[in-house]
Amino acid sequence: MPRLLVIGGMAAGMSAASKLRRLRPEWEATVLEAGPDLSYGACGLPYVVGGITPSFDDLNALEPEEIARRGIEVRLRQRVVELMEGKKRVRVEDLASGRTAEESYDALLVSSGSALVLPDLRGLEGDNLFTLHDLPDGRRLSTFIETVRPRSALIWGTGYIALEMAENFAARGMAVTLINRSTRVLRNLVEPLRDRILRELEERGVRLFLETQVLEALGANGRLLALRTDRGELAADLFLIATGVRPATDFLRGSPVPLARNGAIRVDETCATGVHGIWAAGDCCEVRHLVTGRPVYIPLGTTANKMGRVAGTNIAGGRERFPGVVGTAATRAFGLEVGVTGLGPVEAREAGFDPAEAWIEAGSRAGYYPGGGGVLVHLTADRRGRLLGGQVCGPEGTKGRIDTLAAALTCGMKVEELAMLDLAYAPPFAPVWDPLLVAAGVLKGQLDR
Ligand SMILES: Cc1cc2nc3c(=O)[nH]c(=O)nc-3n(C[C@H](O)[C@H](O)[C@H](O)COP(=O)(O)OP(=O)(O)OC[C@H]3O[C@@H](n4cnc5c(N)ncnc54)[C@H](O)[C@@H]3O)c2cc1C
Repeated sequence: MPRLLVIGGMAAGMSAASKLRRLRPEWEATVLEAGPDLSYGACGLPYVVGGITPSFDDLNALEPEEIARRGIEVRLRQRVVELMEGKKRVRVEDLASGRTAEESYDALLVSSGSALVLPDLRGLEGDNLFTLHDLPDGRRLSTFIETVRPRSALIWGTGYIALEMAENFAARGMAVTLINRSTRVLRNLVEPLRDRILRELEERGVRLFLETQVLEALGANGRLLALRTDRGELAADLFLIATGVRPATDFLRGSPVPLARNGAIRVDETCATGVHGIWAAGDCCEVRHLVTGRPVYIPLGTTANKMGRVAGTNIAGGRERFPGVVGTAATRAFGLEVGVTGLGPVEAREAGFDPAEAWIEAGSRAGYYPGGGGVLVHLTADRRGRLLGGQVCGPEGTKGRIDTLAAALTCGMKVEELAMLDLAYAPPFAPVWDPLLVAAGVLKGQLDR
C-alpha cells in the first residue's frame, strides 16, 4: 500500500491527507504532528481569549471520529527532526520519551507551518510573558487571565494578531499598551489608513509607543515587570510578544529541498518541491504574488487550506494548480475593520513599478440612511492604469470591498474598469457611488492628466 507521510497536522496537512484519501482510498495517510493538538482554527484564538468564542474546543476543525472516518492515521507529539531523502525516510522524535525512529514514505508532504520570531533580548522571560501561536499558548494565556486577573497588558508588535489582541485584552478589562520599533501597522498600511487605526486605538484607551526601542527586560521572582525603552519604563501585568513568524523548516536545512533565504520552501504551482516524491503546502512555503509574479512569504490560513487541497489532489495523480496570492488580509481593531490586498505604493516601487496613488473618504451607507460611517479607500496603480493594490478601512463592509479589489487584481483589471464596475447598491449597504468607485474615479482622473 503506498504511503503519504504528512509533517504537521493543521490546515495544509489535514486538507492534503483528506483529499488524498478521498481520491485514493488505497493509499495510507499518516500525519506526524509535533504538538498535542490536531486540526484547529488558530485564527480563532484571540476570540476565545477575549471571551467572544466560549471555548477552545469550539476551534476544532475536525473531530477525532471524523479523522478516523477519513482513514487518516494521526500521531501527536511526534517531531520530524531529519529528512533522509535518499532513503525516502524521515527521522522522528517522540517528544514524550525523547526516542527517535525512522518512518518511510512514498510521498512526503511538508506542512510544518510557521515558527515565532522572538526578539533577542536578555531577561525576556517570566510566567506573565506570552505568545499566541498555537492552542497551548492560548490555553496558558487564558488560564493566566482567569487566575491572576491582570489589569494591564503590553503587546509588542503591531501586526494583525497584535491589533486583535488589543481589542480582546480590552474586552477582558485590561489597560492595553502597544509598542513597536517602527511606525508600521499591519504589513504595508498607508499613512491615512494607519493614522485612522491609531486614532481608533487611542480613542479606545490603548497607549501607543511607536518608534520605540526596547533596551532591557526588567523582571524579578520569575515575573516580567517592565520593558525599559528609549521612551521610559513600560510596566504591565501581562506581556504578549507578537513580532512575527518565519517558516518552520529548520529540519530541512542541508537537505535537497529548495529553500528561500528566509527558510520558506520553494514550490511550483502543483505544490511540488522538485525533489522526487516531496511536496509542500501552507505557512512553510513561498507562494507566487500574482501582481509582481515574484515569490513572497505571506503565511495565511486561506492559502494553507487551498495549497493543502491542491497538494493532496496532485499526490493522488491529479492536475490541480495553486496559482498564487494577491496578499489579501483583513482584521478588526475595536470598531474599525481594515483590509489590504496587492501592493502599497512602497512595495510597488520596490517591485519596479512607477506607481500612482489616490485615497478618498466616503460614507459606508447612503447619506440619509442612519448608522455606518466614513470608509477610507486607498488605491495604487501603475501609470498605464493597471490596478496594483488597494486598502480599505471603515466601520463596516470592508470584507466585501477588499474582496472585490482582490478579484480585480487577480483579473489584472484597469482602474478605469474598476471605476465602472457594476457593484451592488442599496441604502443600508452603500451610497450610490460605492467608496471603491469613488476612489477609482479619483485615481483615474489623476492617471488621465
Ligand atoms: C492567533 C492567530 C490568528 C490568525 N488569524 C488568521 C486570520 O484571521 N486569517 C488567516 O488567513 N490566517 C490567520 N492566521 C494564520 C493561520 O492560522 C495559518 O496561516 C494557518 O494555520 C497555517 O496552516 P499550516 O497548516 O500551514 O501551518 P500551521 O497551522 O502552523 O501548522 C503546522 C503544524 O506543523 C507542526 N510541526 C511543525 N514542525 C513540525 C515537525 N518538525 N514535525 C512535526 N510537526 C511539526 C506544528 O506543530 C503545527 O501544528 C492566524 C494565526 C494565529 C496564530
